[in-house]
Amino acid sequence: MFKLPEITYPLSIDTIGKMLAMGHEATVRCLTTGCNHSSRLNLVALGHRIGFDHSCLVQDLQRYFYCPVCRAAGRDDKRIGLVRHTLTDPVSAWPRQAKSAYERAKGG
Ligand SMILES: [Zn+2]
Repeated sequence: MFKLPEITYPLSIDTIGKMLAMGHEATVRCLTTGCNHSSRLNLVALGHRIGFDHSCLVQDLQRYFYCPVCRAAGRDDKRIGLVRHTLTDPVSAWPRQAKSAYERAKGG
């Protein structure tokens, strides 16, 4: 278990904890031309390892990652990008709308 940070406004999603609190996810992607290797980032495991208050900017996180495909091929393995994913419909729908969409899908 871990404590999610308090969300304050104006909103700035700048830490791993705030990403989790807002329901965001991230994918780490290799930027080397022709490689395109990517992997979904486990933000909970990363937060336990480096702290939930750690910055979630790519320049602050990229030192923890490398591309295993490029490393095996002997290329530069530290050209890493981060793609953030926000919650999308139907996960992001308000509970009542999500419930009615579920009932429509069920046919009732
Ligand atoms: Zn790569």
